[in-house]
Amino acid sequence: MADMREAKEACGLVGIYGHPGAVEKIYLGLHALQHRGQESAGIAISDGERLVGHTGMGLVSEVFSGDLQRQLSEKGNTAIGHVRYSTTGSSCAGNAQPLLVEYSLGQIAVAHNGNLVNAPLLRDEYEAHGHIFQGSSDSEIIIHLMAKPTHIAKPDPIAHVLNHLQGSYSLLFLFPDKIVAARDPYGIRPLCIGKLEDGAYIVASETCALDIVDAEFVREVEPGEIVTLDKNGIHSRSFTGEQTPTPAHCIFEQVYFADPSSSIFGENVHRVRYNMGRQLAKESPVDADIVIPVPNCARCAAQGFADESGIPYDRGFTVSHYAGRSFIEPSQPMRDLAVKMKLNVIREVVDGKKLVVIEDSVVRGTTTRGKMGALRRAGAKEIHLRVASPPIRFPCFYGIDFPSKNELIANERTIEEIRDYLGIDSLAYLDLNGMLGCTKKPDDNYCTACWSGKYPIPVDMASTKFSCERFQQKLF
Ligand code: SF4
Repeated sequence: MADMREAKEACGLVGIYGHPGAVEKIYLGLHALQHRGQESAGIAISDGERLVGHTGMGLVSEVFSGDLQRQLSEKGNTAIGHVRYSTTGSSCAGNAQPLLVEYSLGQIAVAHNGNLVNAPLLRDEYEAHGHIFQGSSDSEIIIHLMAKPTHIAKPDPIAHVLNHLQGSYSLLFLFPDKIVAARDPYGIRPLCIGKLEDGAYIVASETCALDIVDAEFVREVEPGEIVTLDKNGIHSRSFTGEQTPTPAHCIFEQVYFADPSSSIFGENVHRVRYNMGRQLAKESPVDADIVIPVPNCARCAAQGFADESGIPYDRGFTVSHYAGRSFIEPSQPMRDLAVKMKLNVIREVVDGKKLVVIEDSVVRGTTTRGKMGALRRAGAKEIHLRVASPPIRFPCFYGIDFPSKNELIANERTIEEIRDYLGIDSLAYLDLNGMLGCTKKPDDNYCTACWSGKYPIPVDMASTKFSCERFQQKLF
């Protein structure tokens, strides 16, 4: 099986059409979406005729430091932006987005959140026909498909290209005269539309990017929908027609990835996590003195657990806001160091206490073990870990970076073996059906593949990775 650490990413997108402060607002939107990606950032801008762009490795504030933001603001009123997380193998500037290229019809910039499971096959095919790829990201194949003469000749080239893609994609295309947004037929990754005070439209991965610029939420981009923003307003069309499948929204977005303030897939993330905590308390009660969350994602679930169980909620850890999210650091030593830099146990709270510790999820288990060890050293009398999602046993092929199956703590280990490894007194996970019951949509509207192994889109396990070492060129 492919090593999942080499190719997967989760990203954030923002686009604004025809607004004087577009670049500044894209910057703010990207800032709000940085929990989706902290390794690179980029903005592509149109003045109505030409596109320019800037991308770089690092946080949004690092990539657009000094006077650059102001300089870019003068380049145009329409722009798209992207923050990206990539893993060790694909952590290179050549993969930073938006990808901006010239093709036979002019310029185009593309920003992608998701993962295209058929990208390796398509890429091999195109390389065999002499196409040169500049980076290693799966997203680049979209540009090559857009530039293919037989695709250009179609009545709706974008719809035609999208129908060639398999996997997850929320996409923003920037052309000199418009922005086109699209979402894969399963709606795996989120994408929403908002409106600014002056009536200009904004499209973003999550509503938290609308909130930061005081945009009003309009609606989500529907699975299988193409939305065009241009001088005539907003236009919608379906590229799947009658073929639109049952949605498969990534429920891991609700469990971990999205910001709690955001609403995605029709409901608020905090509320869903809170419900998961309540459900967990019903399924796996425990006698304890206090409920503490493992910051930050588990706070909502811990509150739900505390409210349902009647056990007081307290803070067991302090968090440094100056360290990155451990899950999305590229290597295990970096993740371990990030956890140490980020979390400190409040000894006063945990010393001599029976703790219910709430985690949103456990992936490799190594960082969780470190946190449990820290609680024990601070004097915790008993540690009862409750995880607000089921055991992750399968890799994700749709854009979230999980390690290979063998590195997942729950792969081929019993709950008792995991408990023993973590060095705790008891361990329980949220049941899969219990988790699905915490959302508003029907259970079959969600992808649960990393827990259930049921992949909504078939995956060719042998051809789902790109190596960044193949190409390292910077695109622009
Ligand atoms: S496999 Fe898991 S992380 Fe990936 S899309 Fe499905 S639910 Fe989300």
